[in-house]
Amino acid sequence: MISIICPFYNEDQMVPLFFKELFDAIRVIDDEIEVICINDGSRDQTLNKLIEQKNIAPANVKIRILDFSRNFGKEAALTAGIDLAIGDAVIPIDTDLQDPPQLIPELIKKWREGFEVVLAKRCDRSSDTLIKRKTAQWFYKIHNKLSSPHIPENVGDFRLLDRAAVEALKQLPERERFMKGLFNWVGFKTAQVTYIRNGREAGKSKFAMAKLWNFALDGITSFSTVPLKIWSYLGFLISFFAFIYSSFIIVRTLVYGIDIPGYASLLVVMLFLGGLQLIGIGVLGEYLGRIYIETKNRPIYIIRKEL
Ligand code: UDP
Ligand code: MG
Repeated sequence: MISIICPFYNEDQMVPLFFKELFDAIRVIDDEIEVICINDGSRDQTLNKLIEQKNIAPANVKIRILDFSRNFGKEAALTAGIDLAIGDAVIPIDTDLQDPPQLIPELIKKWREGFEVVLAKRCDRSSDTLIKRKTAQWFYKIHNKLSSPHIPENVGDFRLLDRAAVEALKQLPERERFMKGLFNWVGFKTAQVTYIRNGREAGKSKFAMAKLWNFALDGITSFSTVPLKIWSYLGFLISFFAFIYSSFIIVRTLVYGIDIPGYASLLVVMLFLGGLQLIGIGVLGEYLGRIYIETKNRPIYIIRKEL
């Protein structure tokens, strides 16, 4: 059996379009298929539209709907899908048709060749805005400098995971879930197929800039402690220069007598160090906040009911 995991958040326009393409794409597959739809606290007609699809699904396709009690975010939705999927292979896919369902048979083919993870890599992102492409590119650069294992560039959540990889994923207990990183962290034998990323067909993106910024911080703080560690090195470096400079000033004062006080240089150095300290504390805060959330050990999502 193959499980397809579809997160929906205010996508009522997309539901019929998405299922039409999905059903078309999986017509060529004879296996049993379960489509796990997660209604992530949508405030529009998404749930009703999903229920309608149950009646028109092909015979080998079973539609399961997990109705969340509120919006928990895409990462939580994917986690729920992965927890409840029973297929031998699991495929998370965006439901705005930016991840083409037509690629699913190709993913499955690679899986049958023996790969445990098959990534769908975007070879063309021209449908995304320039800012989004650039910021994504910087994110991958910075993230991969700071953390290992590296996450492959331009690969989203759209991929196929073998049951073995899914079981490994289910052992990762963290609340702050950066799925792309987690998927990658578990390893396994990996293949890639490429596709061209389309624009969204209807509705609009749920990831505004502020949300993406936090998402990037989640990614980096989940997989790297480098931002925590650089401060001690920076501190050493600054102390070293301060020591040399102060020796110089002491000697100069002893030899030439008291100088006219340097108000400007004093203020600049103070402000510079003050700023640096605040940044350091801010970084501590980013990690501390996340540790705080983790220690509460709250569930990642709450399902109102399964339909
Ligand atoms: N999504 C979700 N919960 C959220 C935000 C998004 O389940 O809180 C789903 C959304 O319905 C879509 C997928 O995640 O299927 C990707 O969202 P979107 O297209 O808005 O992201 P983008 O493509 O702009 O990165
Ligand atoms: Mg999208």
